[in-house]
Amino acid sequence: MWTYHSRAVPAVGLCCGGWPCAIPIERRASGKRHLDRLEDVGLSNRQKWYWLLGLGVEVGRVAYRAELVGGHLALDLVNTVAWRLDPGRTVDRFTELPNVERWLLAAGVITDGAVVTRRLRDDLVAARDIAYDVLASLAIGDRPARAAVDALHGLVSEVVRSASVVVSPFGWRADDPGGVVRLAVWRLFEDEDLGRLRQCGDDGCGWLFLDRSKNGSRRWCSSADCGNRARARRHYQRARDESTA
Ligand SMILES: [Zn+2]
Repeated sequence: MWTYHSRAVPAVGLCCGGWPCAIPIERRASGKRHLDRLEDVGLSNRQKWYWLLGLGVEVGRVAYRAELVGGHLALDLVNTVAWRLDPGRTVDRFTELPNVERWLLAAGVITDGAVVTRRLRDDLVAARDIAYDVLASLAIGDRPARAAVDALHGLVSEVVRSASVVVSPFGWRADDPGGVVRLAVWRLFEDEDLGRLRQCGDDGCGWLFLDRSKNGSRRWCSSADCGNRARARRHYQRARDESTA
């Protein structure tokens, strides 16, 4: 069920996209939530523009849809926390167990019918947070804290110790979903060019990705999401400047 509100409605708050929105803040506590990422709800282009232009799009409870835009399984794991850099909007997608299952299915780590336990979720969250503490610093050219590096070292040691070695093709393999994801964390640090690690250019997003573009110019986690919002904001600002000039 979609409800569009015009900006003429008097009770004005800020919608999760950071745009002026007519939906009263009190209504957010009523079990509904604002749209915070376009990709979550599979909007049509027309609906996206309603949202981007700040007309206010309210959605009922919608199922989480995993967005795999990091370019690596370990980064997609890290990106299961949305709006990390904006504490008022931060959402941990793994708070709910069904979301963990959706993410694991979308990432191809499990197939339909696999049992996702709290313990698996807790293992993934622990690996995610350890990886993020190091990656977040590297993505912005900072030196990771010693404690963060030590925690990563502990994680990687344990992952490699518990993996099995296969000889054809030669490599390390984990047989359980938690092990597969944690091995991916090790592989990210071991195999990838972390000089291409970036943080999304949006002020609040905080998602990380590997910039695999030829000229290293990718700015956004998703050009259809954060990129579009930035373009719409610039467009809106220009139109406002021109109308007040
Ligand atoms: Zn982003």
